[in-house]
Amino acid sequence: MHELGIVVAIIKQVEEIAVANKVKRVTEVTLEIGEVSGIVPKYLTDAWKWAVDNRSTYLKGCKLNIITLKAKSFCTNCETAYDTMKYAKICPNCGSDKTYLLTGKEANIKDIKVEN
Ligand SMILES: [Zn+2]
Repeated sequence: MHELGIVVAIIKQVEEIAVANKVKRVTEVTLEIGEVSGIVPKYLTDAWKWAVDNRSTYLKGCKLNIITLKAKSFCTNCETAYDTMKYAKICPNCGSDKTYLLTGKEANIKDIKVEN
């Protein structure tokens, strides 16, 4: 389950922010997860619940919010952006496969709520 590895990495980042800002407890974390990141939000939430209670002092009972980011690809042939989930690697505008992913693989920390 690679979601646990992601969760552990995110918790580490949040804890570093907490320490740097002299925060006592982090109560809520919001993540942005790309549509084609391969991360399953349900697994991520399950791993999160376990990890915050067992692996962290600053984040005990911390809530997790997940925002899904739409995946977008860009065609270098006709210079158009399009919906990756719908058309995958083939540009719907010109039929070219000279495309690359613009967004959709993210796993970013968007927001953190704390208690001082
Ligand atoms: Zn195109």
